[in-house]
Amino acid sequence: MSARPFNFSAGPAAIPLEVLEQAASEMSNWHGCGMGVMEMSHRGREFISIYEKAEQDFRELLAIPEEFAILFMQGGGIAENAIVPLNLSQAMEVDFILSGSWSQKSFQEAQKYCYPKVAASSQSTGFDHLPDFKDWQLNPKAKYVHLCTNETIHGVECQELPDLKSMGIDAPLVIDFSSHALSRPVDWSKVGLAFAGAQKNIGPAGLTIVVVKRSLLGHALAICPSAFNYETVAKNDSMYNTPPTYGIYMAGLTFAWLKTQTEDGLQGVLAMERRNQKKAQLLYDAIDRSNLFDNPVQERNRSRMNVPFFLKEESLNEVFLNEAKERGLLQLKGHKSVGGMRASIYNAMPIEGVQALVDFMQDFEGRHA
Ligand SMILES: *Cc1c(COP(=O)(O)O)cnc(C)c1O
Repeated sequence: MSARPFNFSAGPAAIPLEVLEQAASEMSNWHGCGMGVMEMSHRGREFISIYEKAEQDFRELLAIPEEFAILFMQGGGIAENAIVPLNLSQAMEVDFILSGSWSQKSFQEAQKYCYPKVAASSQSTGFDHLPDFKDWQLNPKAKYVHLCTNETIHGVECQELPDLKSMGIDAPLVIDFSSHALSRPVDWSKVGLAFAGAQKNIGPAGLTIVVVKRSLLGHALAICPSAFNYETVAKNDSMYNTPPTYGIYMAGLTFAWLKTQTEDGLQGVLAMERRNQKKAQLLYDAIDRSNLFDNPVQERNRSRMNVPFFLKEESLNEVFLNEAKERGLLQLKGHKSVGGMRASIYNAMPIEGVQALVDFMQDFEGRHA
């Protein structure tokens, strides 16, 4: 295991080695049935059992109440930027919280289908925080409120979900939790809909998971494509069209892996949360102690999953990346829109990987300061 490099990609991202090895061993013959998972009918007994176990494990891991449907769809997070307004907006007004590139993208796409308004934004300070709930100017007529709970590019995470009801708002909260799903528990009493592209913290690209309160179904616009109508997808157990079967299988293996994880006596998602806290603390402490590296995000909103950091000496960027690669620390280059570096430390990243990065950063600073 130690021979494999540590992969800090933001997405598609690292998958636990145990999961990859199990998939490899079952590639051409799943459980002795003589077929690989990619070759099976999605309506056959074998695949239905894979699908049902994946759905059940996901529901269990995140303690998702029965009043929510779990949909396995295609299209990724960016498609959801259209699919959500197509299903929930009724072509009326909706609210957006802008806390980084992803919520901004969602806001722009929604303009094609409804009337989105910005209820709060941190754009003027370079998306270095999530606007305080008390500063949100929510529209009582909005059909929903969109919040990206982990901004993958800017490294801004919402640490506690807002309770819209207590803020006098009846509308459902829609969360894009693509890049931190399963890294921590979710308080479903505050959520109407959650969506996540799989390629960050769940499995391979091509699968999108949507968790939606059943009471929100049935209001799609007439132009909504049938394959993207949540009600249709829910009624057909995600088999209205052919779902991304291999992605569901891989996600299922990851869910089973997650259920076995322990940390300080905790299990499953709670274990991941504890481990993710430790990993993030280790890395942010190293950045804050250093004179070479910097993370601009306000402490209370720092992401546990995506840690952007910048070298104060920008001319060292290329050297840093090359040396990191030689040390087996891969894909640390920051997003092209913000530059610098970014370490994505999703569930599949062990503490040893973060320690190896921190050791390298300290060594690098010692040699180049
Ligand atoms: C990666 C990501 C998406 C989805 O991107 P796709 O390319 O459509 O899969 C959406 N939202 C967030 C926050 C993301 O990190």
